[in-house]
Amino acid sequence: MARLRNTVMAMVTHLRTVEFVSREIPRPAGDEVLLKVEACAICGSDLHVFHDRHPFVSLPSAIGHEISGTVVETGDEIRGLQEGDLVVVEPVISCGRCVACLRGRYHLCENITFHYREGQGGFAQFFMARERWLHPVPDGVDPDLAALAEPLAVVLHAIGKAGLKTGDPVCIFGDGPIGLLLTAALQVTLTDRIFMVGHRSTRLDMARELGAMDVWNSRIVAPEEIRARILDNTDGQGANGVFEATGSETALRVSLSTLKKGGTAVLLGLHEGNAKGIDANIIIQKELSVRGSQGYCWDFPAAMRLLNSHPHVFGSLITHTLSLKRLQKAFEILSEREEKTGKIIIRPE
Ligand SMILES: [Zn+2]
Ligand SMILES: [Zn+2]
Repeated sequence: MARLRNTVMAMVTHLRTVEFVSREIPRPAGDEVLLKVEACAICGSDLHVFHDRHPFVSLPSAIGHEISGTVVETGDEIRGLQEGDLVVVEPVISCGRCVACLRGRYHLCENITFHYREGQGGFAQFFMARERWLHPVPDGVDPDLAALAEPLAVVLHAIGKAGLKTGDPVCIFGDGPIGLLLTAALQVTLTDRIFMVGHRSTRLDMARELGAMDVWNSRIVAPEEIRARILDNTDGQGANGVFEATGSETALRVSLSTLKKGGTAVLLGLHEGNAKGIDANIIIQKELSVRGSQGYCWDFPAAMRLLNSHPHVFGSLITHTLSLKRLQKAFEILSEREEKTGKIIIRPE
């Protein structure tokens, strides 16, 4: 391949401002692989960076980590991949040496970091990653759909924590992309008794289309009423599992109150402060399990298989596809909340 000297990468330089910077493309060495980015989906955390509200990131910052790309050049140690292969990036960088890494729990690495926090974002023409973080995309999965592998891996990791059995009733708190992906993944793998609590009617409609049995808008339906409706729908028992994907204290409190005795709450929405007002006694008296779910660990291959077996279900979450130069516009669409938005895919030309 002819050497490309410079390439374009998007950054959030200051509040609600996307700018493109020029970067030199290094040559891949050792186990590195250079990708031509085919698609990069916008994550809720990118939106937080755009609004300068990300708890661990300050501006200026690179953005974009839900990436699919084609291999264009490989380092001299690469044997398993070749030019033209379509892959997705598992966008973590772990140290490989701490106790968590040595035990295979690399998502809990003490030194974990992410490409975008190291200055390399996925809203770019090219992306460099080590081979161990690349997963091949099956033939039937197009690059846009493949870009959903990362958030789907988040979701599968969370589902794995819930200890659910086939047909168990579950309730999802949060109608963001993670809540919608949870609905889709639970529906195709485990149960059709899914309830969702959210606050945007367009997203709640999407959840219903994805198979949620009932959805409630928390702007209209009071917490007590939500609890009553879940009990009504579960023979007075409550849900076996709840997924709290909002990071709101109220949602956490309601989610615990809607659980069946012995049920499991999986928490995956980050909170801005300490959650107060949580009734610890309810955890004791109902013998609830409360489990955190952080990112993913060995979940990408399963995510890829699911995308391959249900392309239309997961593809229906993609509501917009925009070119890289319209990234600013894409963030504005997500921020204005006027249109129906699921996942927005950015494609560099
Ligand atoms: Zn993400
Ligand atoms: Zn480590």
